[in-house]
Amino acid sequence: MHVSAPSDIDLASLVSARDGGRSMDVHCPFDKSLIGSLPVSTRDDVAAAFATARSAQAEWVRTPMRERTRILTRFRDLVLDHNTELLTWIQQETGKSRANAFEEVTDVALWAGHLAHHGPGVLRERRRAGAIPVLTRTHERRVPYGVVGIITPWNYPFTLPVTDSLPALLAGNAVVLKPDDKTPHTALRALSLLLEAGLPPGLLQIVLGDGSTIGEEIVEHADHMVFTGSTATGRTIATRCAERLIGVAAELGGKNPMLVLEDADTDRAAAGAVTACFSNSGQLCISVERIYVHDSQWDAFTSRFVEHVQTMTVRAGCTWDADMGSLISAQQLETVTRHVDDAVQKGARVLAGGRARPDLGPYVFEPTVLTDVQPDMELHSAETFGPVVSLYRAHSDEEAVAAANDTDFGLNASVWSKRHGPRVARRLHAGSVNINEGYAATWASHDAPMGGVKDSGIGRRHGMDGILGYTQAQTIAQQRLLPIAGPRGLSHERWASLMHAGVRVLSRLP
Ligand code: NAD
Repeated sequence: MHVSAPSDIDLASLVSARDGGRSMDVHCPFDKSLIGSLPVSTRDDVAAAFATARSAQAEWVRTPMRERTRILTRFRDLVLDHNTELLTWIQQETGKSRANAFEEVTDVALWAGHLAHHGPGVLRERRRAGAIPVLTRTHERRVPYGVVGIITPWNYPFTLPVTDSLPALLAGNAVVLKPDDKTPHTALRALSLLLEAGLPPGLLQIVLGDGSTIGEEIVEHADHMVFTGSTATGRTIATRCAERLIGVAAELGGKNPMLVLEDADTDRAAAGAVTACFSNSGQLCISVERIYVHDSQWDAFTSRFVEHVQTMTVRAGCTWDADMGSLISAQQLETVTRHVDDAVQKGARVLAGGRARPDLGPYVFEPTVLTDVQPDMELHSAETFGPVVSLYRAHSDEEAVAAANDTDFGLNASVWSKRHGPRVARRLHAGSVNINEGYAATWASHDAPMGGVKDSGIGRRHGMDGILGYTQAQTIAQQRLLPIAGPRGLSHERWASLMHAGVRVLSRLP
């Protein structure tokens, strides 16, 4: 089942780690087989990676923008050329279905193309209105931070490391990246393709190892941090960034609601809910875990949705025919099983699924639909991050909106309605809201920002924010003819009255 990189590429050699140190084994969730063994970085290796990245960045920041975009375009083409190999790397490290792996590869190709096309315009130096018209010539520059630390989780091992690294690099930074221990080969293969596309060696460093040692060490050296993962880890990292007075963007967890309003197209909503809830076995930060269904839709929606779920093809393997694959690990299986068992024990009803399926794979859990879920059940408010969704009846739009907003999280939301989608979307407390889609419409709108409110994070990826976020603004203002404090020889009083007259004139201009 396993793929390996083309024989001329040694992925282990791309890890920033000293020879002869510790190594770690990476296993495939489909069957627990060994994919490969990779070196583990030490804290010293992280420090060395930052030193190398820093010297590469000093050169890179002088590289013309058109050369940087050329590398992105070549990378995009290489990703498309190697898509079959990449799909298998992603699948064998995560256990997801091939269709879900395809989303990652396509997303990276589109984002690289978007950045190459639009990035330079977003990053270019801009003329700004000066303090005194004509006399003050003011420009805003966007300056890279230096070396950005990026830490990513295992659930989207190609999309997340690449989505964050590309704009950082385009803006003139170097990157030290720590992918999750469960999915390092996919990130290393992305690095090898970037090098093949022309990225200067040393500019993107990959370190591997335990989050609480290697991850913490990254935060100690970074000029800016970008983190994706759990809210608990995000809080720890943000606290340390605050102490170091460096910026941090954190994309964290969610408990995302979907609302099926009175006028929704029931068939579309029921089919859409399958993708919204069970992509990557629900191990997707923006996937739906709660559905509020209007009374008038309840019977039809519930029966159609359950019917779809019961006919899903669940399979652990690299063929295209699976609707859903495996969870990634024993730990994920344990959390999902615990949440479902706790809910059922306290009175929740299982409408579909509800069980682990060791006959299909060691970590496979059925796509599961629950109802009668109450606040004392763990999965009512906590993120399950698995293929489990709870259905709730709503008697009005008001009630659905209030329930949807009654959470500490605010990452993504989904509204299904023929007429009222935009109105209801504006009342939801979430960084992204999809109308008649689960999550893909906002995520794939690369020109628009994506991120969370409340405990779901700070900062945005995608859009202008997701590019400018890797830079600091520098303002350069050149004063001509007269100093701002007034010409020599003119009394302070006279200058003050001239200035006030000028302010009056300026305030009347359109
Ligand atoms: P996690 O926080 O345990 O780990 C994420 C990454 O952080 C890993 O690389 C890990 O090694 C590292 N890490 C762990 N402890 C660290 C520390 N003390 N210092 C520095 N780095 C550390 O998260 P997880 O459980 O692996 O991932 C799942 C979570 O990620 C879910 O909550 C999910 O919602 C969230 N997520 C969010 C987004 C988003 O864009 N909002 C995307 C994907 C996943």
